[in-house]
Amino acid sequence: MAQDIRDGRRRVIVLGTGGTIAGRAAAPGDNIGYAAGQVGVSDLLSGIEAPDGISLLAEQVAQIDSKDMTSVVWRELALRCAHWLAEPDVAGIVITHGTDTLEETAFFLQSVLSPHKPVVLTCAMRPATALAPDGPQNVRDALVVAAMPGAHGVVAVCAGTVHSAFDVRKVHTYRLDAFDSGDAGPLGYVEEGVVRLHRSWPGAAADVASGLFERMIEARTWPRVEILVSHAEARGSIVDSLLQERRLGAAEPVQGLVLAATGNGTLHHALEEAALRAQSAGVAVVRATRCAQGRILPKAGEAESIPSVGALTPVKARIALMLELLGSPSTA
Ligand code: ASP
Repeated sequence: MAQDIRDGRRRVIVLGTGGTIAGRAAAPGDNIGYAAGQVGVSDLLSGIEAPDGISLLAEQVAQIDSKDMTSVVWRELALRCAHWLAEPDVAGIVITHGTDTLEETAFFLQSVLSPHKPVVLTCAMRPATALAPDGPQNVRDALVVAAMPGAHGVVAVCAGTVHSAFDVRKVHTYRLDAFDSGDAGPLGYVEEGVVRLHRSWPGAAADVASGLFERMIEARTWPRVEILVSHAEARGSIVDSLLQERRLGAAEPVQGLVLAATGNGTLHHALEEAALRAQSAGVAVVRATRCAQGRILPKAGEAESIPSVGALTPVKARIALMLELLGSPSTA
């Protein structure tokens, strides 16, 4: 259901998906005991001024706690974004989203759309019913970014900070400024309705592999990629169980593994040996670091038996591998 909020020459589309920003608690002083995904996206816009010359149009795509994000919602979100981005009078899109998987949705949308207009995910750490909710200011800041001439790519806006989809990650469990861009630093800041940019916007449309969007929409199911963490006393038995499932003809056999490696991409030897067995059985395996900062640096002159994904976090590496596997004939 779409609802026009105001008339104007250029539009910003606001897609609602739920989250704490749309959450309700029983008492205004309760910032954590709430149900996410309760308030409609049109209501989230009430009282928020649109940027000059912009009219807003709200559409409810989902109403979930983002910890429960699914490929069904991602697919729908990608379709709605593609639809609205193609409209000439649409300046950009704002997506209201839960904080828990915001970085995954942002990376997913950047990977499949690489839009030439801004797609801005925003959120809140306090529910809409809080004494001092942070959602309205975040939405207002996101609208400013979405309406900004020259802005493009998928970004996240929270607590006055603009993060790129590639770098953003949730780093705090309850603070209002819960996101960080690691070593890369934020793209910029929104200061009293003005964007101060520190870096250039994320990549342009040419970055998306040809046909990826169509394959993602058409595939019956997306390739199953699991994340396994390397840690003290890690074992290979989970990998072996997944391989056994494959041999027994599971409906959705594992096709990829992301190993959340220690430090500069190192693996417990038991997990590494099992991962190599998985590789030989046809499973795609990559290494991402479980460190909060930095990237995996290749060792000079040493071939990597399990390729690394550089700076991608394990959850983003999972999406990248899943999309890569979507191109393989067995998953079409
Ligand atoms: N569990 C909530 C969600 O991700 C957390 C939040 O939005 O802050 O939807």
